[in-house]
Amino acid sequence: MGIRVTILGSGTCVPSLKRSTSSFLLQIRDNLLLFDLGAGAMRRLLEAGFGISQVSHIFLSHLHPDHTGELVSLLFATKYPQTYRRRTPFQIVGSRGLHNFYDGLRTVYKEWIELEPGLMNLIEMDNGGRDQLATDDFSVDTLPMSHIESSIGYRITGADGTTVAYSGDTDYCENAVALARDADLFICESALPDAMKVEGHLTPSLAGRIAAEAGVKRLLLTHFYPECESVDVEAQCRNTYNGPLIVAHDLMVVDV
Ligand SMILES: [Zn+2]
Ligand SMILES: [Zn+2]
Repeated sequence: MGIRVTILGSGTCVPSLKRSTSSFLLQIRDNLLLFDLGAGAMRRLLEAGFGISQVSHIFLSHLHPDHTGELVSLLFATKYPQTYRRRTPFQIVGSRGLHNFYDGLRTVYKEWIELEPGLMNLIEMDNGGRDQLATDDFSVDTLPMSHIESSIGYRITGADGTTVAYSGDTDYCENAVALARDADLFICESALPDAMKVEGHLTPSLAGRIAAEAGVKRLLLTHFYPECESVDVEAQCRNTYNGPLIVAHDLMVVDV
């Protein structure tokens, strides 16, 4: 029981051999949930011991290319070659605009990424307020985050009550605190060092502030631009948060 987290990528759009684009897996019973897929996600998935047809759900935190860019490649690889063609249905979850986004991709790639009817289901969550989705094995709560219009954060609760929250990309906001409230694990972006704060992203101490205000049981920092490599991310986070803390690296496994 519980939820197993595998970090596929702890980086950003900046190409890096050490940190692939921001992406991770949750294993809940027989479900394999993939969160975000930018460049390199499918390769990291293989390195973690999984194939793309094992993924039951794909969750997109927002539509920036470092979180969605490999969707086209995944759909193409889901269809071709015929011998590998996927036959079990899967879900892609994102915020309002997901259908438009997919239609845009289809305008460019046409039948190369069109799957047989019923194989792929697109599910749009409200990016104007709280929304919820339930399955037999877990439930999903979403809230809009402070980054771009399509940004939502996810809160996944397993049947045994284990909770993992994921900020996606965001700035400090009340919704991020609400999303992470009392979570067993809060996976939070920490894009740039404290001294390099930009609008729409967090720093280690701001991520820590959200975690402290939300009372999370464990905090996992991820989505590191290269500038983070030359500072002590953990020490900066400790300015605001004194609970259990994990600094992500690619292919890290965390049991919740
Ligand atoms: Zn982004
Ligand atoms: Zn990002």
